[in-house]
Amino acid sequence: MGRLDGKVILLSAAAQGIGRATALAFAKEGAKVIATDINKSKLQELDEYAGIQTRLLDVTSREQIEKLANDIEKVDVLCNIAGFVHHGTILECEDTDWNFTMNLNVRSMYLMIKTFLPKMLAQKSGNIINMSSVASSIKGTVNRCVYSTSKAAVIGLTKSIAADFIEKGIRCNCICPGTVDTPSLQERIQTSPYPERALKDFLARQKMGRMATAEEVAQLFVYLASDESAYMTGNELIIDGGWSL
Ligand code: NAD
Repeated sequence: MGRLDGKVILLSAAAQGIGRATALAFAKEGAKVIATDINKSKLQELDEYAGIQTRLLDVTSREQIEKLANDIEKVDVLCNIAGFVHHGTILECEDTDWNFTMNLNVRSMYLMIKTFLPKMLAQKSGNIINMSSVASSIKGTVNRCVYSTSKAAVIGLTKSIAADFIEKGIRCNCICPGTVDTPSLQERIQTSPYPERALKDFLARQKMGRMATAEEVAQLFVYLASDESAYMTGNELIIDGGWSL
C-alpha cells in the first residue's frame, strides 16, 4: 500500500529537477499524478511511468490554468513548484527581471490556487504545497534580491491561505530548500564567469558540505501530501542542510 493511494495530485514544473523527482515519488506512493510543465519534450519522458499523466501548462497563463481546471474533476493536492532564479542585487534587477520573477514565482501561485481552491472547498478537503526557499524571509542571501522577495511572498501567501481556509478542511504549507542539485542549478554554475568558484561558493553555504538531491526534497513533498502530516498547516518547512543555522 502506498502512502498516497488514490490521491489526485496536480503539480507544476514537473519536467526536471525537484518537480520531476516529486512527480515520480508521488506515483511510487500510489497517487494519480497530473504532471505539468512548459517543456514538452522533457515532460513527455514521464508518460512511461504508471500513475502519471502529463499536460502542457504555462502557470503564468490564466487561460491555460482555467482550461485545465475545466478538464479535471477533482484535485486532492496542488503543488506549485515552478520558479526562476534571477542573479543579482537590486542594482542589477531591471523592471523586466522584477516583473518576470514576480509573475512566475508568485502570481502563478495566486492564479493556480484561486482556480483550484473552489474545487477543494466543494469537496470540503484540499491540500496545497508551495515551493519557497531559504533565500526568502528566512535568510538574507547575496545576489538574490528579487528571488528572495518573491519567495518571501510565497511564505506570506501560504500562511494567508492556511489562515483563511483552515475551518473549511484546507491546509497549505510551503517547502524552503537550501541548495538543491538540479539542472538549473548546474546551468547557473556552468554559465558563471568562474564555474569552479561558483560550485565552491554554493557548497560553502551548505554546512553539511553537499547539496540536497531533488529526491530528498521530493520526500518532504510526499510527507506533506500524505495524511501523516494532517495536523500541519501554515508552515514553512526548511530542508537546507544547515544553511540557515
Ligand atoms: P529547474 O529550474 O531545474 O526547473 C524548473 C522547471 O520549471 C522547468 O522544467 C521549466 O520548464 C519549468 N517552468 C519554467 N517556467 C514555467 C512556466 N511558466 N510554467 C510552467 N513551468 C515552467 O527547477 P528546480 O531547480 O528543481 O527548482 C524548482 C523550484 O524549486 C523553483 O521554484 C525554485 O525556485 C525552487 N528552489 C530550487 C532550489 C535549488 O537549489 N534548485 C532551491 C530552493 C528552491
